[in-house]
Amino acid sequence: MMYFSEKKDVVTIGALDFVLYLSAREIQNKIREVAKQIENDYANENPLFLIVLNGAFMFAADLIRNLDIACDVDFVKVSSYKGLASTGRLDVKIANEKELKGRHVIILEDIVDSGFTLDQYLPMVQAQDPASLKVCTLLEKPEAKKFETQVDYTCFKIPTKFVIGYGLDFDEAGRNLPHIYQLIDEYR
Ligand code: 5GP
Ligand code: MG
Repeated sequence: MMYFSEKKDVVTIGALDFVLYLSAREIQNKIREVAKQIENDYANENPLFLIVLNGAFMFAADLIRNLDIACDVDFVKVSSYKGLASTGRLDVKIANEKELKGRHVIILEDIVDSGFTLDQYLPMVQAQDPASLKVCTLLEKPEAKKFETQVDYTCFKIPTKFVIGYGLDFDEAGRNLPHIYQLIDEYR
């Protein structure tokens, strides 16, 4: 069960408390900046955005809405399984529908944590022979990185703490929050 109010700066989900970390206003301001960069970089390229579900849906909607250039969108769903073995595995649950060959592809991610997802997924996209491939992420945790992976546009670099809101979930809760909240790990 989740309780929250837009006016409160702490959100409680189950036994966990999260404190306001990035406000909707800060997020929107940064997204406008990054959208301008992408506009400049892709003015005549008709880029194809590959939106990684579920977490990136809100970010993608706001970023693309701010772009004043022609573009296409497509959606993919991937999930990682890190079992007991040291080598994880990435499952493509929903693959892209549009052809990537010859296209300028930009992957939109919610968060780059260890880098595992992109480490596994980028070669699958490269194998489809795009004209170019870039990665744009809302959040990045530089200190959590275990895989040296390509990231071209980052809205916010954040510490290695669990965050929710603005598309990101904790056990599927919290995706609808307009702000981003950070787990309070040392509590009272
Ligand atoms: P990776 O370790 O492969 O870079 O990140 C894998 C996935 O873990 C992300 O796409 C995201 O779904 C999830 N993840 C990593 N850090 C966080 C976080 O702080 N909050 C939430 N909600 N998900 C996270
Ligand atoms: Mg994700």
